Amino acid sequence: MKTELPLEIIPAFEEMLYAISGDPIPTTSSFETAERPHIWSLEAYYVERPEEGPIRQALEFVCSQNGLDMPDFVIEEVEQRDWVAESQKILKPVDTGKFFIYGSHDADKVPADRIALLIEAGQAFGTGQHGTTYGCLRAIEDIAAKGQPENILDLGTGSGVLALAMAKLWDSPVTASDIDPIATDTTIENARVNDVTLAASAEDKSGVFALTADGFADPLLAGRGPFDLIVANILAGPLIDLAQDMARNLTDNGRLILSGLLDEQQDRVLEAYAAQGFILDQEYALNEWRALTLKRA
Ligand code: SAH
Repeated sequence: MKTELPLEIIPAFEEMLYAISGDPIPTTSSFETAERPHIWSLEAYYVERPEEGPIRQALEFVCSQNGLDMPDFVIEEVEQRDWVAESQKILKPVDTGKFFIYGSHDADKVPADRIALLIEAGQAFGTGQHGTTYGCLRAIEDIAAKGQPENILDLGTGSGVLALAMAKLWDSPVTASDIDPIATDTTIENARVNDVTLAASAEDKSGVFALTADGFADPLLAGRGPFDLIVANILAGPLIDLAQDMARNLTDNGRLILSGLLDEQQDRVLEAYAAQGFILDQEYALNEWRALTLKRA
């Protein structure tokens, strides 16, 4: 079902659609229309074709309550699509010069001289498309030019893209953690797909050790430290909250790569880390996103 309504009455109409529908309730989505700024398009998806009468009555009711004319609405069948497969095709490979992150539909385009990672668009964040991930990959490349870190943490690993990239680049233990267990499972799956060794236990220092943890709260994670490289592509808020823990779990000569912050948040993040004795080493910008490499002053 599709209609167009002023934004302010969409929640009330959605509530009515849920109330009048049987089980399962429809899934709704609304978005701005290009031409008329405060008129939004509302779509409600049903498993079975819904009856027109009750929807018409609900719409009439909400409009009359708000002194609005009744808009048109349509009920039509939507083509069945495999949305995951479709979105995978849209994703283009990411080529940083050193790394090539691609979906299986681009398997024939992998240049021979890149470190290649097959990462399908899936449940966990991190296909390398996002400016924040790209910034981290660039920062990792620059750190590689200076030497090889000995003990690495990817905090907020998502799909595992950065952890796997680093495990391919360096022969050092990589810990990959995420607060979300789906990310941990996806990382393990992506390690298998990309032939990256998985550590058998927290004590095993080969390949990638993936675990679910909120920040450094899990003793297994802290026990794998201290780290001489920590990459954290999470948002500005959590990065600021984690500043003290980062300092505690990083070696004296260690480096931090922080990403997921916007240009206007950079000063606040740097302030929080300056309080822990860190200074800015390098800055990477992609659109409004910033990735930062920090070291101790
Ligand atoms: N590293 C990937 C994914 C970044 S998305 C990349 O660069 O593409 C950020 C991830 O951080 C999400 O998967 C989210 O679940 C995780 N995250 C957010 N807060 C966290 C916290 N406090 N501790 C651990 N992981 C966290």
